[in-house]
Amino acid sequence: DKRSDLANHKTVIGGVELGKEPLFIAGHCTIDPDNGSAFLETAEAVKEAGAHVIRGGVWKPRTSPHSFQGTAKSMDFLLEARQRTGLPVIAEVMDEAQLKYAVEAKVDMLQIGTRNALNYTLLAEIGRQTAEVGIPVLLKRGRHMGPVDEFISAAEYIVANGNPNVIFCPRGTMPALDGFRNHPDESVTPLLKEKSWVPVIADPSHSVGRAKYVPACSLASIAYGADGLVIESHVNPITGIGDDPKQSITPDVLKKLIQDARILWDL
Ligand code: PEP
Ligand code: MN
Repeated sequence: DKRSDLANHKTVIGGVELGKEPLFIAGHCTIDPDNGSAFLETAEAVKEAGAHVIRGGVWKPRTSPHSFQGTAKSMDFLLEARQRTGLPVIAEVMDEAQLKYAVEAKVDMLQIGTRNALNYTLLAEIGRQTAEVGIPVLLKRGRHMGPVDEFISAAEYIVANGNPNVIFCPRGTMPALDGFRNHPDESVTPLLKEKSWVPVIADPSHSVGRAKYVPACSLASIAYGADGLVIESHVNPITGIGDDPKQSITPDVLKKLIQDARILWDL
């Protein structure tokens, strides 16, 4: 296949050049618009724990149409978190209208979720709409996507349309490993790196889907060569919505995880 070769391309996020030191992204799965203060508290706490980027779900892809779908109102909290912490922020977009809204709000980094990882028209549109400023795009692995070539081709849709700042995000695949939410797939990291110049930021939270196993999966990801981690964290997970009650870790646990990941990185 014809592919962009940008072997010397550097991706810099939140002052971190990927590959030089591990990048940590943390925050709520979902911003609860009725409890924006919890999100702001989390943002400050994950910064203190060592995170470089704040995550917060504004619009959410939910399995049931009757579950909370997110709301643009949450964007205000995300931007307020950026204002208060001085850190860049990331949110998922699922369609062109949300993409436009997020680009106009100058969201620092965009996430394409697992469900849209094979939505080629959306990926191409993201490449075009983010080309000018090169907003980094975290591309989650499709839940039933081939590990390497199909993943690289999906990223190529964004790159070929103008934005080289794409990052692969293994987040577990289906069918799940019995007991976990998905089948953890951080082990694809070296295989991706063998064939592509694109950095990898792993998502242990969705891979295992259970807070108590997130630290182990995080360290495994770093051991496999990931350039960073995106982790769901919440100051009080049981009061959260979306995935937060099940898989968010507290900022205390995150702080220890970040310290351990840095030690492992330096080995
Ligand atoms: C998320 O990050 O909260 C999310 C919905 O991720 P995924 O698309 O990997 O399920
Ligand atoms: Mn989530």
